[in-house]
Amino acid sequence: MEYLSVNHALRCVLESVKKQPEIETVRLEQALGRVLAEEVYANRDQPPYDVSAMDGYALRSADLSCIPVTLTIVEDIKAGDMPTKCIQAGQCARIMTGAPVPQGADAVLRVEDTQSAGEDLVQINTPVNAGNDIRRLGENMRDGELVLRAGTEITPGVVGILATAKCARLQVTRRPRVAILSTGDELEDMDDPVDPNKIPNSNSYALMAQVQALGIEPTLLGIARDDPAELAEYLQRGLHFDVLLVSGGSSVGLHDHVRPTLENLGVNMLFWRVAMKPGHPLAFGTTARTAVFGLPGNPVSSMVCFAEFVAPALRQMMGHTHLHRRTISARLTHDVKHKPGRTEFIRVNLAQDEHGYSATSTGTQSSGVSLSMARAEGLLVVSSASNGLPAGEQVAVQLLDGTAFQNEIGFRA
Ligand code: AMP
Ligand code: MG
Repeated sequence: MEYLSVNHALRCVLESVKKQPEIETVRLEQALGRVLAEEVYANRDQPPYDVSAMDGYALRSADLSCIPVTLTIVEDIKAGDMPTKCIQAGQCARIMTGAPVPQGADAVLRVEDTQSAGEDLVQINTPVNAGNDIRRLGENMRDGELVLRAGTEITPGVVGILATAKCARLQVTRRPRVAILSTGDELEDMDDPVDPNKIPNSNSYALMAQVQALGIEPTLLGIARDDPAELAEYLQRGLHFDVLLVSGGSSVGLHDHVRPTLENLGVNMLFWRVAMKPGHPLAFGTTARTAVFGLPGNPVSSMVCFAEFVAPALRQMMGHTHLHRRTISARLTHDVKHKPGRTEFIRVNLAQDEHGYSATSTGTQSSGVSLSMARAEGLLVVSSASNGLPAGEQVAVQLLDGTAFQNEIGFRA
């Protein structure tokens, strides 16, 4: 089989996995990170009447045509009160933020711009326009207005809107069920005693965390030895899930049994080689129920393949429309060697100055050096056609997990 290009492989994956058809109901308290499966409409005008945006005085702007002027305070209105008086010429009401603006008043003046002139009297030295510091009825949402579309990711801001629309329970797309299996005779699991001749199983856990970062709690199936019968048993369990991630054994070595065993179990293998570095022994296949990814055993390759192929697939299944990691443009601080043929993902760190971002390799790009993956902020993508990149070139960098926060404040307030 030919090596598939990264674009072609990604298209194949995204055409093979479908948005989960099942919908489930969750309480608002559990909704963060889920994807809405229904439209949400406002069930009232919000705010329900014109309200004050400040602590101050509700007054008639026309009364301030000649300043200074002294107005008579006829009422105190707190948030939660309803006004009882209509404001006449020469009058005002003391009003608190969020309280309804009384009839007759057409503006609010904040208390800081006024002076007390004795009990129930206030002196005003600044003119205001009609509408000043009034939040209009329905300014936030109108009764019956569509406020959230199906497909919206539930962020903290969206939770606030859902609460405003009194959605105590809401319909969301079901999350895919994900199983993770590691393979290899050389592997030692977390609870095994330390054996200096073994390799700790890190992939199950790194993959677990990558899945968790998408808001899904995966099931760890453990480690299958490089034995076709044992492997088949484990894989069979995995084929009860929506997505099965298999780490290792996908290559063409003598003991790489994953692909033939999957085929024996009825998995339709769609590809098993992708023209990328790291990560070329990436396999993908499907059954009627399960999408199976055969990920390379190298810890870095496994994580990169997850980021490029598995994460977009899982997000699509969850109902998201934004599938891909955000990519920024950055200036290379050094030359990058590259021969045409494979798309390369280089682990980089980012710095920011007045010209924008710059990207610097984390050092050795061996796919066994997982510390450099742990330290990387992004993946610099070198196109398969590239003959190398010179220092100073603007390049595309995909941001990795943990890049939403930075060390220094990035703006001048
Ligand atoms: P494989 O893809 O099975 O040929 O494995 C490639 C390399 O990745 C080998 O050096 C393995 O020891 C290593 N490896 C495989 N599986 C894991 C794992 N679960 N955790 C850490 N390293 C692994
Ligand atoms: Mg192996």
